[in-house]
Amino acid sequence: MDIIVVGGGWAGCAAAYQAAKAGAHVSLFERTDMLLGTGLAGGIFRNNGRYTAAEEMLAMGGGELFRLMDENARHRNVCFPGQMHASLYDIAKVPAAVYSLLKNAGVELHFQARIVSAILSGARILAVKTPAGQRYAADAFIDATGTAGPTVNCTKYGNGCAMCVLRCPAFGGRLSLSALAGVAEYRAHRGDSAGAFSGSCKLMKGSLSESLQKQLEQDGVALVPIPPELREDHLNQKACQQYAHAAYMENIVLLDTGHAKMMTPFFPLEKLHQIPGFAFARYEDPYAGGKGNSVRFTAMAPRDDALRVRGTENLLCAGEKAGPLVGHTEAVVTGVLAGFNAVRMCRGENLLTLPRSLATGEAITWVNQQTFRPGGADKKYTFSGSVLLEHLEQRKLISLDTDVITTRTERAGMRNIFA
Ligand SMILES: Cc1cc2nc3c(=O)[nH]c(=O)nc-3n(C[C@H](O)[C@H](O)[C@H](O)COP(=O)(O)OP(=O)(O)OC[C@H]3O[C@@H](n4cnc5c(N)ncnc54)[C@H](O)[C@@H]3O)c2cc1C
Repeated sequence: MDIIVVGGGWAGCAAAYQAAKAGAHVSLFERTDMLLGTGLAGGIFRNNGRYTAAEEMLAMGGGELFRLMDENARHRNVCFPGQMHASLYDIAKVPAAVYSLLKNAGVELHFQARIVSAILSGARILAVKTPAGQRYAADAFIDATGTAGPTVNCTKYGNGCAMCVLRCPAFGGRLSLSALAGVAEYRAHRGDSAGAFSGSCKLMKGSLSESLQKQLEQDGVALVPIPPELREDHLNQKACQQYAHAAYMENIVLLDTGHAKMMTPFFPLEKLHQIPGFAFARYEDPYAGGKGNSVRFTAMAPRDDALRVRGTENLLCAGEKAGPLVGHTEAVVTGVLAGFNAVRMCRGENLLTLPRSLATGEAITWVNQQTFRPGGADKKYTFSGSVLLEHLEQRKLISLDTDVITTRTERAGMRNIFA
């Protein structure tokens, strides 16, 4: 079984690991020189309903990446506005840990390997190609190219390329495998524009006042009130609508992920310098965080609940590519399922759909239904807040009790399914 994963964000890494674990020969192609994609600028996990999703994956035997995040957490059980029991992984350590996990599982990693074309036979992908013209064939493919950028989208739908961790000018922008296979993708909107701004910026921790640095190191979180005349309202432009609370407009909310993660899409530097503790603040990601941020959700692939891309024979998708699902947890959950189903696809077996009696299964199915209702793709869905968490809470699928989650997984016939 030869499986090719395109995109080395959390979704692609989870898919590659799961498929390799099941015995496939897996090649992962990443256009930059680092794994984790937008996960390099993130770090928050286990907050609100993401705790349940991570525990379900562990109970199903597909939780290795959550264990790895736990092992590389800088802070645990952190609370900030609207968010409970969050962990913050160390953005410096996690990429190396994921690299080792994939290498040890036998995944063939190709860096600086942007996939630029696909060779098709009807609805079947036979092979993909890099710019140098090298051709790589496989039995099944996974599109985990995300939805961030490329530069043209950040310029057209945002405030210009703000030079984020994806480094499109150096490595070439995101290019979707689904689009290369002829699939018509869809996009989210915010008002009259397309996509949504990424919702946080990273400040160099050493550029903050000593007392702020100390507070961040000690507590993992710091809230600094913004004087009313300096406030900026970007709440409805954010991809992560779980943070669309007034508290994020009235305060600078900082989290310690290694950088100081500032929970706003962008904030003018001259204004920031006027806030106590930020006199010397400078941006680390995106470099032009005073002006803008990356634009996401302009290229999602229509898919079924088993994550097969509609209109294709041997292409699955995961992460943001699989719909307006925001987050590392969401990317890992869909990545594991896509990796598992790629193996089933190779074996000619029926693909797995996670049952709706589980928070993870309900999320994958319900989000797909909601997305194609009027305005549905413009909402963002995450286990950590907003409409998806409300829906899962109504269905009583959110729990912090590992025994309850394990029993539920057992009853659904899913215990250790991914093991
Ligand atoms: C600034 C920022 C902060 C965030 N913070 C958090 C957070 O704290 N917690 C949280 O849960 N979520 C956070 N998110 C959201 C989260 O990072 C994403 O929803 C999730 O990680 C998406 O993963 P993905 O694998 O689907 O896509 P991506 O992370 O976008 O990965 C896609 C990968 O595909 C590669 N690629 C694209 N095209 C090609 C091609 N043609 N060939 C080869 N490779 C290609 C890209 O280089 C990239 O590495 C944040 C997002 C951003 C932008």
